[in-house]
Amino acid sequence: MKVPKTMKRYCLKCKKHTTHKVVIVSSGHQRGSLKRGSIARAKLRGRGKGKGNLGKWGSKKAASKFKMKVKNTKKTNLMYTCQTCKKSKNQLKGRRVKKVVYKEEDK
Ligand SMILES: [Zn+2]
Repeated sequence: MKVPKTMKRYCLKCKKHTTHKVVIVSSGHQRGSLKRGSIARAKLRGRGKGKGNLGKWGSKKAASKFKMKVKNTKKTNLMYTCQTCKKSKNQLKGRRVKKVVYKEEDK
């Protein structure tokens, strides 16, 4: 999916259509990395150290159920910022797409 860098949208604060800046929001950090039973905590405990194939604890996952990729699309997460009042609003409903990129500007 290609998204333009700027877009004309309705602003709830200005109460009219204004130009909005579009930002693709990315998950900046790993969620739930310190949850109970997580690999990050197991590594802190000392699991996954040594030689050879470490299976679940190593950098390469075990070639069984851990290797299976179930979902091949993600929901888009876009942030719209009004250029006149600088008010930001998140996209209400994300669409399932494989990849989100910015649309290239016309020359
Ligand atoms: Zn506005």
